[in-house]
Amino acid sequence: MISFNDINLFPIVYELLQNLAIMYTFISLFMPMVTQGSLKYSARKIHSKGVIFFSVLALVSMLIPIRFIQIPDIVVDLRIAIITLASAYLGPLNSFLVGTMTIAYRVMFGGLGWISWLPVALLCGPLAYCIVKQVRNRTIGLIMASVACTLTSTMVFALIAQYFNAFVYFSPFANLDNYLKITFALLVCNSLAAIAYDHAIKTIINRQQNYQALRIKADTDGMTGLYNHNRFQQELSQALESARTSKRHLSLLLLDLDYFKEYNDNLGHQAGDALLKEVAKIFLDSIRPNDIAARYGGEEFAIILPDCSSYEALKIAERIRVRIEQNSFYGREKMPKRKVTISIGIACFSGDVTDKDDLIRKADAALYSVKRTGRNKSVVFSPYKNVCFMVKS
Ligand code: GH3
Ligand code: MG
Ligand code: MG
Repeated sequence: MISFNDINLFPIVYELLQNLAIMYTFISLFMPMVTQGSLKYSARKIHSKGVIFFSVLALVSMLIPIRFIQIPDIVVDLRIAIITLASAYLGPLNSFLVGTMTIAYRVMFGGLGWISWLPVALLCGPLAYCIVKQVRNRTIGLIMASVACTLTSTMVFALIAQYFNAFVYFSPFANLDNYLKITFALLVCNSLAAIAYDHAIKTIINRQQNYQALRIKADTDGMTGLYNHNRFQQELSQALESARTSKRHLSLLLLDLDYFKEYNDNLGHQAGDALLKEVAKIFLDSIRPNDIAARYGGEEFAIILPDCSSYEALKIAERIRVRIEQNSFYGREKMPKRKVTISIGIACFSGDVTDKDDLIRKADAALYSVKRTGRNKSVVFSPYKNVCFMVKS
């Protein structure tokens, strides 16, 4: 009979550290792949990617259990820590599903152990959820939930050991010393694992959020909130490529505010900035969800219209132009003709458009022809006469 004193904690700590290192690495590699670094909490909805992530994590934890060197029959794994974390990140329903998946794994692993694991797996998710929800401090909440779930599991094991006369090492009736020692080791290991895994997951989520925030910043014009020039070029390349492969239309609008220098000179640059923001809002209000509006530079804008013929593009351009002309912008009475206006050049993707730069060049030529012929108009580029449709102001 092995006594309480025979169990040395050092090998357990050593194995725990190995386990944490492997799991930490696995979480870092696997989580961005499966969940793209974001876990959506939902009390009622199933978050399948999150469930897959945590249940695979539980499977990995079962493959790298912690051995109690002095008791050859005993290996413990840290599935409870995983179910606890699933409840904190995904809510009660999803952590229940993670628990259910671990029953399937346990059955695959063989033996009678699954009988005792079945009630534990089903209970742990909702139990951990109730505790984590109640406790304000997340770390303390995770420790308390791990403790509660671990105690539930060792109690169920004790009852089943007694009832089936099996798992003698887990029976407090057969060997109380061993039972207490194993329970204590499990409490420490599961709590530490929950905190360590939580740290790994949080780090990845933070990294992903920072990356997203930086991407948005890098792609967006700070003043208007529209895409900036760089992102516009990328979007136009993609739109052109997909128009080519799907043989669909694609139109491009280049828009330039008329006499904007005068607006700045008369009303100041701050008023000019406010006007640019208002104009950007009008663009966004006037286009379809798949269209892409960008600030090309200064007081020049671009709008990509996928799946849009030249006729439809002209209609959209006119809608924008008229809305700007009729909008009661601050200080409009100081502008020529007492209104703020915009000129729009339109080019459409067709057989003679060679590439993205060619399309921009053609929209620019149409815009130039508007500026030359009085402004406040929409013009579609024509390869023959330079202008094909012209809408008079
Ligand atoms: P046109 O009708 O020929 O387009 O005349 P315009 O005055 O609009 O064009 P011009 O190119 O002569 O002047 C553009 C002005 O846009 C000059 C510049 O100060 C102003 N501008 C460019 N970017 C900004 C900005 O971010 N904020 C403000 N307030 N003004 C800007
Ligand atoms: Mg201008
Ligand atoms: Mg300009």
